[in-house]
Amino acid sequence: MATINANFLKLKAGYLFPEIARRVRAYSEANPAQASRIIRCGIGDVTEPLPAAAVEAMHAGVEELGRRETFRGYGPEQGYEFLRQAIVEHQFEGLGISADEVFISDGSKCDTGNILDIFGQGNIIAITDPVYPVYVDTNVMAGNTGDADAKGTYAGLLYLPCHPANGFVAAVPNEHADLIYLCFPNNPTGAVASRAQLEAWVAYAREHDAILLFDAAYEAFIQDPTIPHSIFEIEGAHECAIEFRSFSKNGGFTGVRCGYVIIPKSVTGSDGMGGRVPLGQLWSRRHSTKFNGASYPVQKAAAAIFSEAGKAQVAALIQHYMGNAKLLREACTAAGLSVFGGVDAPYVWVGCPAGLSSWDMFDKMLSEAQVVITPGSGFGSAGEGFFRISAFNSRSNVEEVCRRLLALLG
Ligand SMILES: *Cc1c(COP(=O)(O)O)cnc(C)c1O
Repeated sequence: MATINANFLKLKAGYLFPEIARRVRAYSEANPAQASRIIRCGIGDVTEPLPAAAVEAMHAGVEELGRRETFRGYGPEQGYEFLRQAIVEHQFEGLGISADEVFISDGSKCDTGNILDIFGQGNIIAITDPVYPVYVDTNVMAGNTGDADAKGTYAGLLYLPCHPANGFVAAVPNEHADLIYLCFPNNPTGAVASRAQLEAWVAYAREHDAILLFDAAYEAFIQDPTIPHSIFEIEGAHECAIEFRSFSKNGGFTGVRCGYVIIPKSVTGSDGMGGRVPLGQLWSRRHSTKFNGASYPVQKAAAAIFSEAGKAQVAALIQHYMGNAKLLREACTAAGLSVFGGVDAPYVWVGCPAGLSSWDMFDKMLSEAQVVITPGSGFGSAGEGFFRISAFNSRSNVEEVCRRLLALLG
């Protein structure tokens, strides 16, 4: 008899995005005349084509693989030196990170989930609420939680509520935690953490011998020069933090797949017997056992993001999406809603009109304006009463969404 990992049975059946897809499908079938009007601002996926520098480099990589003289088979599991070196030079200059502390992967969703492989049972895990659902669900699968209640809150996790009063940036808790997930700029709220707030988290982690799992997938969208892009800009983080980065949102690689993890050699965990083990050593072992490296043409394309042309093209993409965010912010404000995020992040986080729940607002926007938004409650119970609008769209779609929002609520 093959038994299953019963932890999977604790997962809430309706994962957010399948439920959104189900409601959109049902609406389209019931209202075929309106279906073609639907504009999707729901899922956090990029819309603009890849930067030309990445396309050229990927082509060149494929050509190399097609010729005997330049063919390559398996690459290094940790990623090619050329890419790890480019990352260190262009993203972590002066921050004391070396190329052997960079681990290339096929994306951050996988990395933020897989990282649990190297941690033991019984850790106290702190998660902000609302939150990127991957952090929660992977802890459920790993057996780090009890059951969920009706609101989807799991027993055994330490939730850190984020709301307007704390600017959607959780303060350090009074309780102890061993692993803390932080995501800045934040998905879904678009909030960013100041240097002082990150310093408080690093101090907390050092005091509690905890590890910060810092997801910086949206760092490229930061506009405010005082906001840190990396946790390693904070003194002491090299002893207590792991950082996740991705080419998905800056380079538009959501369909190409490339990300990386930074684990400084000085970050260690307890072996439970008084010894300390470098986490990078464990991740390296895990990576080379369960992963065979990201594709060569993809790594070539990722490195091209750091060429002069690539940087200019990425800057133009960011400018495009942040221009969308500005328009969405202005439209929501003009419609009388309370608006957060969208300044240093491609997500605008909006309070629902009085009396409407997140899903009420979702249904209203879908049926009356044919605009798909993301209900805040899908990111955690503290997200109830809010919705997220993604700035990942064409300019013309965003302008139309703004018009419809104003017509509906203005
Ligand atoms: C999009 C996103 C990522 C990146 O995921 P990939 O697997 O690299 O595409 C990571 N974290 C958050 C919070 C995200 O929204």
